[in-house]
Amino acid sequence: MARSLTILGATGSIGRSTAEVVVAQRDAFQVEAVVGGHDARALAEMAKRLGARFAALADEGAAAELREALAGTGIGSGAGRSAVLEAVDRPADIVLAAISGTAGLEPTHAALKPGRCIALANKESLVCAGAAFMADARRLGVEITPVDSEHNALDHALAAGRNKDVEKAVITASGGPFRTWTREQIAGANAKQASAHPVWSMGSKINIDSATLMNKGLELIEAHHLFDLEPERLDVLVHPEAIVHGLVQWRDGAVTAGLALPDMKVPIANALHDEVRLFMDLPRLDLAAISRLTFERPDEVRFPCLSLAKAALQAGGALPTILNAANEIAVEAYMAGQIGFYAISELVEEVCSTYPGSGNVPATVTEALVIDGEARALARRLVPAKHV
Ligand code: NAD
Ligand code: MG
Repeated sequence: MARSLTILGATGSIGRSTAEVVVAQRDAFQVEAVVGGHDARALAEMAKRLGARFAALADEGAAAELREALAGTGIGSGAGRSAVLEAVDRPADIVLAAISGTAGLEPTHAALKPGRCIALANKESLVCAGAAFMADARRLGVEITPVDSEHNALDHALAAGRNKDVEKAVITASGGPFRTWTREQIAGANAKQASAHPVWSMGSKINIDSATLMNKGLELIEAHHLFDLEPERLDVLVHPEAIVHGLVQWRDGAVTAGLALPDMKVPIANALHDEVRLFMDLPRLDLAAISRLTFERPDEVRFPCLSLAKAALQAGGALPTILNAANEIAVEAYMAGQIGFYAISELVEEVCSTYPGSGNVPATVTEALVIDGEARALARRLVPAKHV
């Protein structure tokens, strides 16, 4: 029987890859609702393509444009926060959460409903409010399947043994566009250069996070919450070919790894349908043709965001929430050309060290969002001082 599916962030990079999986598997899914940010036309196209019943846009000002674009289709629509929450509230077996940034937290959290599965791409939900989010998911009996390729690979590798027998769980990083650049070269890089990812084609925020390696830091925090692994048992390895996505080293010395060609449709298909694997008509991994896979340790001197995220994970409390908020403001400022590349990590570090009272883990998502708002305000005040 077809599973009903709602897609949050349907017009984005992950949303579009999800649409391709759904179109290739017409019998497996019935799309209930699609949610987007600002682009009414793109959302309407997506709703029509997928045969969705309802489309919701976060941007209230685009309500009329969305309604017009869907006129005569029988697809319901709405705009603004309440429409997004209405979309999330409609009955669906699976909600694919792929809004980018902390903006995804409220709707993804509202999507937690008994018996549902959340296919989670929006890692910022877990970085901002991981403990509270996971506690609510457990309480409501919600299954969370990871879309992030590293976590999807780890999820399967971890199924080969018991949590307490895991010595280390390792996620890989391609290294981003600046892997081979010197610190001086990186310091002068603009947002266009930082967005030229060598392997993955992604949304603008995660592109910059991949260039700073903050993405890998956020993923360590995500892995900590998803798999109940302490910081000491988590690690990062740079692997430019992006074929091995996650590895689990067991206490007997054996290693279980998850491999796939770097195409997000693979983990998406898996996260949407994890009991029975769907047939995906994609190129197959040909290791003989690739012939060589390489690995190196990450360089935390050239990529200080990784060590800041590791420190926040280790220190715990509200620091991951604060780090995540400061990073979003810093990335926005960098993309707007207001600050240089290394001002991103400087700003994050300054906000983390000056935010008052970062001791307690936010007990609820609401509490996490309050801290997030305060840390953002603090970061915004610091941007002018770092102006290039
Ligand atoms: P993107 O920028 O391409 O797409 C973001 C989507 O969210 C768009 O549909 C946009 O309209 C929507 N959106 C933005 N703000 C919104 C709001 N306030 N309310 C509702 N919708 C809103 O981003 P992406 O690359 O698809 O990434 C999405 C998430 O998936 C991120 O959390 C990212 O870290 C994660 N992720 C992405 C990839 C990838 O390959 N792109 C891989 C792993 C994880
Ligand atoms: Mg990833």
